[in-house]
Amino acid sequence: MNYYDIKNPTQKVSLKEAVLKSISAESGLYMPELIPILPGSFFTNLPNLNLQEIAFEVSNAMLGDDIPHEALKKIVSKVISFPIPLKRLDENLFVLELFHGPTLAFKDVGARFMAGLFQYFLRNENREVVILVATSGDTGSAVANAFYNIKGVKVVILYPSGKVSELQEKQLTTMGGNITALEVEGNFDDCQRMVKQAFADKELNQQVNLTSANSINFARLFPQSFFYFNAIAQLGKIEKPVVISVPSGNFGNLTSGLIAKKMGLPVNQFIAATNRNHVVPDYLKSGEYKPQHTHHTITNAMDVGDPSNFPRMSEIYQKQQLLMAADIKGFWYTDEQTRSAMAELQEKYAYQSDPHGAVGYAGLKESGVLKDSIGIFLETAHPAKFPEEVEKSTNIAVPLPESLKEIMKLEKKATQIPNNFDSLLQQLKKVV
Ligand SMILES: *Cc1c(COP(=O)(O)O)cnc(C)c1O
Repeated sequence: MNYYDIKNPTQKVSLKEAVLKSISAESGLYMPELIPILPGSFFTNLPNLNLQEIAFEVSNAMLGDDIPHEALKKIVSKVISFPIPLKRLDENLFVLELFHGPTLAFKDVGARFMAGLFQYFLRNENREVVILVATSGDTGSAVANAFYNIKGVKVVILYPSGKVSELQEKQLTTMGGNITALEVEGNFDDCQRMVKQAFADKELNQQVNLTSANSINFARLFPQSFFYFNAIAQLGKIEKPVVISVPSGNFGNLTSGLIAKKMGLPVNQFIAATNRNHVVPDYLKSGEYKPQHTHHTITNAMDVGDPSNFPRMSEIYQKQQLLMAADIKGFWYTDEQTRSAMAELQEKYAYQSDPHGAVGYAGLKESGVLKDSIGIFLETAHPAKFPEEVEKSTNIAVPLPESLKEIMKLEKKATQIPNNFDSLLQQLKKVV
């Protein structure tokens, strides 16, 4: 199957090129030419499948023409080495916990799957690829963890000095090996600007195979569709409409849910739940897409003013706002409302959620669907990643998982650089 450039649909590339390059020369995102629909027998049997089996069937339908079954099976079994449990909190209320991977946020699945595809595509090649990634916290650690020691790949992470939590910083800076951490004297927008400059620099791109590991890369986005199939599988017999609420920033996670629905998954509605960065909820109401400057919030993984996956969402609905608004309802919350949602989850259901998951819960509640539908919110990070905010709102200490205790003991290794493109270039020369 080929992948087309949304900006220039007649330009088509193979899966390999779409995955190794991330975006087209004109910075367009890739989409599959066709989204396959899974057969009825798959859905009948879905409650009997485990997560690995689901991941294999779903990825085989999408990628099976391009990757042999055995190779895909191997990738899937390596990626899916932890559970994604669906927990019932009330008659109609469920939470899908996506944080049981090694870096305790949902991005592990996408990053590990992408690493598996890179390994497969680079297996017989001498070329070296440099993954350049700007992070406000969770992406960098998931990517570092997933690509550690992968042959032919070097990872360079830019993170804003003093603006990630201590724990996130340890996760980013203690790997060593083929992972380089650059501590940028500036904010996340500076990091992102420097990365964009690098992708746009013709000379640099002639010397180095640069690529991204953000959800603009289809290989990081697509495997997130497993979450949704896995949620429906765990529900078993479905007697009510299903609504899934997705705390969103760059909208990669929600887009993969839309792809799952296109593949035939019975989800009646999605909720796009955001913080003060609410361009998509606004678009769903008004039909106008107006990118904004980024506001900083306590749900920092969702601080995005111009979500990079919006063009994919729009593409799925043939650029028709009314079609999109029929499937997705948008809601957004201030930090105070997010704290109240964390407090309410604790009080009513004895569930300690992280701030991002709480935004998802708030959206479900406000939508009113819990009266007669099954409502599932995605818990995208472990509460221990945001201990101060969680403890303040729930009045209960967050236990630190063993893996994080180990990481806290390791020594930080990062190079501090000023927030200009020249200093990034200098560092890149040292790496390649
Ligand atoms: C990345 C992230 C999000 C936002 O996901 P998108 O796919 O960018 O919309 C939400 N919560 C957490 C904890 C994250 O790390």
